[in-house]
Amino acid sequence: MNTHEFPPYVELRGRLRRLAVLGGVSGLLGWDEQVNLPPGAAARRGEQLGLLAELSHTAQTEPALGLALAACEKELERGGLDAEAATVVRVARADYERAVRIPAELASEKARLCSEGYHVWAEARSARDFLRFAPVLERHLALARREAGLLGFGDRPYDLALDRHDPGVTEAKVAELFGALREGLVPWVRALDLRSAAKPPALQGCNAEGQRSLARRVVERLGFDFERGRLDVSLHPFCEGSGSDVRLTTRYEVARPLDSLLGAVHEAGHGMYEQGLSEAEAGTALGVAAGMAVHESQSRLWENQVARSREFWSWCGPEFRAAFPESAGGPVDDEALFAAANLIEPGGLIRVEADEAHYNLHVMLRFELERRLFSGELAVRDLPAAWDELAEEMLGRRPQHAAEGVLQDVHWSGGAFGYFPSYTLGNMLAAQLWQTAKVRLQGLERDFARGEFGRLLGWLRSEVHTRGRRENLFELTRRVCGAELDAAPLLAYLRERHGP
Ligand code: ZN
Repeated sequence: MNTHEFPPYVELRGRLRRLAVLGGVSGLLGWDEQVNLPPGAAARRGEQLGLLAELSHTAQTEPALGLALAACEKELERGGLDAEAATVVRVARADYERAVRIPAELASEKARLCSEGYHVWAEARSARDFLRFAPVLERHLALARREAGLLGFGDRPYDLALDRHDPGVTEAKVAELFGALREGLVPWVRALDLRSAAKPPALQGCNAEGQRSLARRVVERLGFDFERGRLDVSLHPFCEGSGSDVRLTTRYEVARPLDSLLGAVHEAGHGMYEQGLSEAEAGTALGVAAGMAVHESQSRLWENQVARSREFWSWCGPEFRAAFPESAGGPVDDEALFAAANLIEPGGLIRVEADEAHYNLHVMLRFELERRLFSGELAVRDLPAAWDELAEEMLGRRPQHAAEGVLQDVHWSGGAFGYFPSYTLGNMLAAQLWQTAKVRLQGLERDFARGEFGRLLGWLRSEVHTRGRRENLFELTRRVCGAELDAAPLLAYLRERHGP
């Protein structure tokens, strides 16, 4: 029998697709919450999202899903299904096992703590008072440990936190990769800071309307499909959705026109990945992204390797000037725009404002603290002091208060441990993909100078996007780049871009 006619496999795919549809509805409501929601509707939206989360949990743990899986596994043993189906079944089994082992009571406690934690964190941050937030963090850590116990990660709970975002990633592997990166990065950044290049002139008079049309024009040219997506405004840029409906956001600050553009390019990198996934396989392992690090490699590749390159600015410079015909202070040339896109600002303590030379230091700091919290080596009450000490060691400066230190990121308020390393693993993969792409696609950078990006997107489509979740981060790197994931290409790229 043809794989796609085997009734339990048809049933399995149908159920996985329904789960993806439910996830899509939640995602769309979440997008709307950040883009359009009237302030008075927050409670109603919370109720709507809560109901969808409940429906999702029920659908993920339904016995009929387990029965379909078991029947498919039996058929696989008999050699009755193809290799693609084997991947779908393997990944769906792992997801199913995780869902059924978490009792509904724990799942809803976690959901409640996430929403409560966000408000407590926001208040604590504006009061610069870590002690207000500490009990939330304690409770999140306790829940994470309990979950790890239930899922067979009792002796290594941080591995579960990492694996959640990037299948196959472990603390030991991250420690090894980050160790090598840190060794090369720290002395290089110190030398760069001392040099502290002359600041390019500030870009003035770049109104929001010009920024909006420039961002739209650029991301469309890169290959983001506006027939299957939108670009809107939110407080923090993000990307939501998949397949034929992908929503990007950015924000427009008159004084910082490159932030909105590079922010939109970053989110478009995520969006083009989602648009490149198989629509027919939505919800199965063949039609979902490989993990957060691979996702981040796509956004960073377009933002950094492409949109911060000199060639990109020789195409985009005229576009920029056309978008702001009345910019005060006279027109800026391509070289000034290239310099502004690559500005190094030493001494910054805020991760989301960091340049690409310093960014990974912020991530390594958080990884170090998370692993100490999970191992029990560090108590929550001692976290601010440990943060400040590491900031001095790695970034060269101690925070003045908790809002520019331990309370700056939203992640821990939602219990999203193990997420930060994805950013730097993504940067590593982006640099490694870039190195490979330049060998495979001769003259790639000359394309950018002409505003042509189709060869790069086509290559990423076939090598990464259409592969779905068939491989994890390490397997994907090995297949595409012919080498293990490694810090060296990222270090080489940074030196090439910013100087030895
Ligand atoms: Zn991103």
